[in-house]
Amino acid sequence: MPSVRRTLSQAALSESNRSHVLHHLYRNGVSSRAQIARALNLTPAAITKITARLLDDGLIAKTPMHGQTQPPVQRDGTVDENAPHPSMTAPRSVSSGRSVGLTIRSHAFHVIGVKFARSLLQLGTFDLDGNQLSLEDLPTVTEKTIDESLTTLRRRMNDLIKEDDAIVSIGMAVPGPYLRTEGRTAVVSSMNSWRRINFRERFEEGSSVPVFIEQDARAGALAESLFSTQHQTLGGRVDRTPEDDRANFPAPSRDCDSYEDEDAENLAYYLLGEGVGLGVIENGRLLDGYMGTATELGHISIDIEGRPCECGNFGCLEQYCSAVATHKIMQEHGYPGIAGLSHREACERLFADATDANQPLKGMALDIIDQVGRYAGYGCVTIINAYNPKHIIVGDILSHAGTRLLDAINEVVRERVVEQVRASTSIALSSLPTDSAVSGAAAVAITAFLDNPSRFIHKHGRSRGPDCERAPAEESRRHALTDVRDGEQQDFPYLGNNSSQNQNQ
Ligand SMILES: [Zn+2]
Repeated sequence: MPSVRRTLSQAALSESNRSHVLHHLYRNGVSSRAQIARALNLTPAAITKITARLLDDGLIAKTPMHGQTQPPVQRDGTVDENAPHPSMTAPRSVSSGRSVGLTIRSHAFHVIGVKFARSLLQLGTFDLDGNQLSLEDLPTVTEKTIDESLTTLRRRMNDLIKEDDAIVSIGMAVPGPYLRTEGRTAVVSSMNSWRRINFRERFEEGSSVPVFIEQDARAGALAESLFSTQHQTLGGRVDRTPEDDRANFPAPSRDCDSYEDEDAENLAYYLLGEGVGLGVIENGRLLDGYMGTATELGHISIDIEGRPCECGNFGCLEQYCSAVATHKIMQEHGYPGIAGLSHREACERLFADATDANQPLKGMALDIIDQVGRYAGYGCVTIINAYNPKHIIVGDILSHAGTRLLDAINEVVRERVVEQVRASTSIALSSLPTDSAVSGAAAVAITAFLDNPSRFIHKHGRSRGPDCERAPAEESRRHALTDVRDGEQQDFPYLGNNSSQNQNQ
């Protein structure tokens, strides 16, 4: 008879293995049990057992493998006998074969993503693939209206949860540096009232759906990592084929089919929005630092005697290449017609003027984009030297300046980075279909779901779909004990790793 301590450990281990299978299906799309077993280096018997539980919970469904003619799984997880086999149902890389495939019921679970910017509150609902189901902007936030705006946000979130029973998780993207243990943002230049808001107290406590909060650029990195696979957009490449992928990206050096997409495992998301931020995914994991404030690029000084910043430093990057800074530069240039515009609106005006051949301000607009782009380039040099990511993806408001901005960044990088390192780094504009920060907020919620699925299925009794009965906590515990009795641990290589330890908290 296992001890209580060991039983808990095995429960965490079982959860870790369910998570690994979900992550595999998420990255790789429809897969057979044999493919999953090979990729995760587990025995077929172990995979059968894990996937049986996931099927029971309604998290995954059976579906034909690619090329077979059986009917596909519908959005709600049921089978449509009349529909043709659509490529959209299985858009990710799929191997041929005649066995039964398994797929995540991505459309049966929804999340809410909330983006907090200095003056903007935006919330949307998404399915697990990151497809946007709804998106709304709340009224502009000012120093005086923050509390009122947060009350409105809370009400809208509750409305969405009532309206959509499939919502299982809420992710929030907040300006950084975000102190996760305190639940506060340490400094928000140009909008310091945000510092007094405790996001955890305001939103985590009392919510009927679990809430997860992350700094905006780090959330954006998660979105690029997760959804680039879904939408085939990593590195700004759209509509690429599997052949393109093989031509442009070396195969992963693992002894498995395609357990993780190497491109999604090593990337940096460079946020140029109202602030400047960075999220780095290395070997599939977000770099955290001790307090969760690592990679705070916006407050790295590019001029030690430069413009003072509210963080206490001088010459911080975000004083030179954020939307706030760009707006300021436009004002310094005497740019006409921008009085009363928000930072975002001023930038959008600038980018529109820069592409309008008949616009007399075109030359000035291009000069300003070049100037901001060079500063963004100095930041990029630091990203490459500090983190050596495979891909740098530029996103948020300034990325809408397009290739002109990218050219300015690349010029600085060419001038200032060692050639061999530069040549192995791609720099591209984000091409996610939705604003990166609100997508990022959704990615935070989805990552939490994939990492610890039982939390959402059992503890909250929120099983989904017509074939899914609620599984109470007692049922969850019974599964865990069964796993141990059946000696599941003998087949599993993840015993005692950090991942399972974290999930046991
Ligand atoms: Zn600063």
